[in-house]
Amino acid sequence: MLLLPRLLLPAHRLLAAGALPCRRRPLLARRMASAAARHRGPLRGVVFDMDGTLTVPVIDFPAMYREVLGGDAAYAAAREAGGGSVDILHCIESWGPDEQRRAYEAIARFERDGLDRLQIMPGASELCGFLDARQIRRGLITRNVKGAVDLFHQRFGMMFVPALSREFRPYKPDPAPLLHICSNWNIPPNEVIMVGDSLKDDIVCGKRAGAFTCLLDETGRYGPHDSIPDDVKPDFKVSSLSEVLSVLEEHFDLAPVSAAESRI
Ligand SMILES: [Mg+2]
Repeated sequence: MLLLPRLLLPAHRLLAAGALPCRRRPLLARRMASAAARHRGPLRGVVFDMDGTLTVPVIDFPAMYREVLGGDAAYAAAREAGGGSVDILHCIESWGPDEQRRAYEAIARFERDGLDRLQIMPGASELCGFLDARQIRRGLITRNVKGAVDLFHQRFGMMFVPALSREFRPYKPDPAPLLHICSNWNIPPNEVIMVGDSLKDDIVCGKRAGAFTCLLDETGRYGPHDSIPDDVKPDFKVSSLSEVLSVLEEHFDLAPVSAAESRI
C-alpha cells in the first residue's frame, strides 16, 4: 500500500508538513479541527496485547527474571539498567547459543505454567462483541509464543486476525508488528488503536507506528495519566476493558471496513 509509509506520522504532522494530497486536506483538516474540539476521528481497527490485557496476568515475571538472569543481584542490575523494568528478550539477545537456549527454556516453562491458569480478562468478550457488531477489525500482538496464542483462541473462542507472537521479528516495542497488521488490513495506522497494559512495549509500539494508544492500568501502577512522561504518554488510560468500549464510542467515529477494502 503506497500511502502507508507517509501515514506513519500522525495526521496533524502530515498536514503541517504538507505531506498529504491537496484534495484530502479539507476533510482531514475538518477532522483534526473536530478532533481538537471533540477528539473524534475515524477508527477502523483495534490491536490488543494478550497477557495482562485480554487475559488476567498469571505469569510471575519477577520470578522468571530472577531465574533467567541468575539471581536477585542480576535481576536488580537489569532493572536498574532498564529504568525500573526488565526487557528479558532483549537481555538475552546477545548471549551465547547454550545460555540463550537455557533462558528460552526457562521462559517457556513459566509461560506454560501460566497457560494452565489462563483466564479471560473481564470485559473482553463484551468488547469483542461490540467491535464485531460495528465491523471493526481486531488483531493481537504478543511477546508470548504462538502456542499460547493458539491456546487462547481455542479456549475462549474468539479469534484475532492477524495474531502475531514473538516468532514475528522484530517484536514490540518495535512498530513492525503493528505496521504489518495495518498493512494486512489495508488501514493506515492513524485509524487504528493499540490497547495494552505495558507502557514500554504496547504504548511505545503504538506511538512509533503512528497509531492511537490506550493503556490498560487495572491497578493504577502507572499513576495519573498526566504524570506519565510525554514520550510514552498514551492517548487514553483506562482501568478496565469496559472503559475501552466507552473510549471508542465517545472519542471516535467507528468506521467499518468493507470487504472490498480489506485484503483478508
Ligand atoms: Mg501485557
